[in-house]
Amino acid sequence: MSELRHDPLNRRWVIVATERGPRPADFEIVHEYHVGKEACPFCPGHEEKTPLEIHAVRPDGSGPNRPGWSVRCVANRYPALAIEGTPDRRAVGPYDRMHGIGAHEVIVESPDHERGLADQPVEQLTAIAGLWKSRLVDLMRDTRFKYVLLFKNHGPSAGATLEHPHSQIIAMPVTPRDIAVELESAHAHHQLKERCLICDLTDYSIIEASRVVFIHEHFVALCPYASRFPFEIFLAPRRHLHDFGQMPDELLPAFAAALGETLKRLKLLLRNPAYNFVLHTSPNIHALPKRTGHFFSLEWDWHWHIEILPRLTRVAGFEWGTGFHINPTAPEEAARALRDVELAG
Ligand SMILES: [Zn+2]
Ligand SMILES: [Zn+2]
Ligand SMILES: [Zn+2]
Repeated sequence: MSELRHDPLNRRWVIVATERGPRPADFEIVHEYHVGKEACPFCPGHEEKTPLEIHAVRPDGSGPNRPGWSVRCVANRYPALAIEGTPDRRAVGPYDRMHGIGAHEVIVESPDHERGLADQPVEQLTAIAGLWKSRLVDLMRDTRFKYVLLFKNHGPSAGATLEHPHSQIIAMPVTPRDIAVELESAHAHHQLKERCLICDLTDYSIIEASRVVFIHEHFVALCPYASRFPFEIFLAPRRHLHDFGQMPDELLPAFAAALGETLKRLKLLLRNPAYNFVLHTSPNIHALPKRTGHFFSLEWDWHWHIEILPRLTRVAGFEWGTGFHINPTAPEEAARALRDVELAG
């Protein structure tokens, strides 16, 4: 079983997952996908190559673990965290450790090996978003998991090892540090002003306009004022909503359209760049032990959003050494270029 280790100096948790354990000679940076379409475990007809299906959308009413699905969720064959056990948090001298419990799932976004999210119709994106939502809601019923992260790696340089379009969910027994920082900022702002920080940031960006990529009725996409990366995009609901899992189903098509448009603009402008995206939804309020502070006010002070991070530059020594980034493209320029992309149809 993997384990989580905490360093009190940098307040960082690390997952030590030795089951995936390459030997020293095996380490290499991979610039291409390992397997082609013939051996792809996510293609229809290859269902036996994945662990058993957790959930799938099957428009034809077919049974599990066979073709007929349009979106499919399975456990990750090489999970970073394991589903059985308890965190069993212990001190190790000045450090902390706990068992690497959690969930690690893969959502196969389409039966089509080549068709990425940016080229999916809104109906398919709606089905994908519906599955994301139901998996988040289900995993948050498990009180061992304090945070459930949905993310996507697109392209080998963004960490994708399989070409077939897919996203991943990792449920974990701690709230990740980067999210904790955002939660604390949002909470402090709300304590002082009784307003949501993310509502304030998006409202101002809409008025100021130069960093807006698009504004729909329910969603807004913008390049953050202090974007870390060229063409970084922040996608959020315009109406205050803290938990992605509580998004009403009626809003899923609007979300799907907004995500699809964001990815299409990126793809057309930057010739299908590698990117990562992460969903920063609410931490799991059902998780025990009950915590104080912002956990009582999350509904008002947190606001879910997706951060889309194109991989156009390398994170190098300065960034690793300082945690801050040198961005060669002003977010205002990035937003203008993204706005100017001509979308067909
Ligand atoms: Zn495939
Ligand atoms: Zn808000
Ligand atoms: Zn965030």
